[in-house]
Amino acid sequence: MNVQAKSFAVSGVFEHPEFDQHEQILFGHDAQSGLSSIIAIHNTRLGPALGGCRMWPYQSTNEALEDALRLSRGMTFKNALAGLELGGGKSVIIADPRREKTDALLAAFGKQVHSLGGRYLTAEDVGISSIDMEVISTATPFAKGTQSTGLGDPSPYTALGVFCGLKAAVSHINDSADLQGVRVCVQGLGHVGYRVAQYLHEAGADLTVADIHQPTLQRAIQTFGAKTIAPEEAHSADVDVFAPCALGAGLNRKTIPEIRASIVAGAANNQLADQQDGRRLKDRGILYAPDYAINAGGVISIAMARPDEGDHEVRRRTFAIADTLSMIFRRSDREGLPPSDIADRMAQERLDDRSKAA
Ligand code: NAD
Repeated sequence: MNVQAKSFAVSGVFEHPEFDQHEQILFGHDAQSGLSSIIAIHNTRLGPALGGCRMWPYQSTNEALEDALRLSRGMTFKNALAGLELGGGKSVIIADPRREKTDALLAAFGKQVHSLGGRYLTAEDVGISSIDMEVISTATPFAKGTQSTGLGDPSPYTALGVFCGLKAAVSHINDSADLQGVRVCVQGLGHVGYRVAQYLHEAGADLTVADIHQPTLQRAIQTFGAKTIAPEEAHSADVDVFAPCALGAGLNRKTIPEIRASIVAGAANNQLADQQDGRRLKDRGILYAPDYAINAGGVISIAMARPDEGDHEVRRRTFAIADTLSMIFRRSDREGLPPSDIADRMAQERLDDRSKAA
């Protein structure tokens, strides 16, 4: 029975709806530590595949595989658009991070990463912290985003990039990047969102904030003099800019007609529930900063950081997110296509150029 179940899962990989010419998929298992992991390398045309490791209590192998396939493809586009000499990959560990995470399991995962000889570089993602990455790095040098390999926690750079990208969007509409008095609603005040709110406050923006965690919300009210809105109403706040910095799929058929902001620019991954939502936003005259373009600061910090070199180059490349977005917005106006489609095209063009040069 067991053998049948396993062979069913494996025979389904190439037929999986999320399979998109992935180069390599490694199913890892370690009986002693209880590790079950999947590493998906989507594309290495630009360089080794970089993408985070997610630990999540997936209900099935198929669910974990779906995440690994989808997210690794997304990393190919994100790294290409950010101008990095890196391909796209992602890994998932099937475990509950609160109950099943052990040093032995993390080290066993590190050995799986190491077995790929540097074709895949791992980093933090949901359920895996920079401290966990230090443990993984005891088994492989191909673990990034640690203090020893670079700058540690990438979220401050993600926040800086989002702030720069948001200003680029405001500038595209107002012909000025001045945020004094611009009304912004930040949904989600976590590692990234709180710092984004701080930058906005310092730049003179008028803040409305939403979070499900009351203490964080109180801190933002006191520190930034922010107004609050219920989390489920944040998308419809009466503001100029909506900055989703919590969960994905928040821009969809139901929420888009209710948006009052003229700009959507935030950190959350996978903001569009489906690709058509990019068109729905454009048809409503809402300028959307594609998520993987604006939130690339973290991956830039992981990719570009060199021990003992400070963060000058990382910051320079993160500031350049504003230029990439301005280019996307101008091309979107010219070609009449949603910015989300333009971002995909620009990433694909870079991949195609590399193929031609090879
Ligand atoms: P986080 O877990 O630190 O913060 C998320 C915050 O959102 C928490 O404060 C949480 O209470 C709040 N939240 C959850 N559900 C909410 C809801 N329904 N309404 C309002 N608030 C809600 O995560 P993070 O690291 O700040 O990442 C935020 C988003 O940015 C995620 O989508 C993440 O995938 C994406 N992202 C993060 C990075 C990074 O460097 N951390 C990089 C790229 C993309």
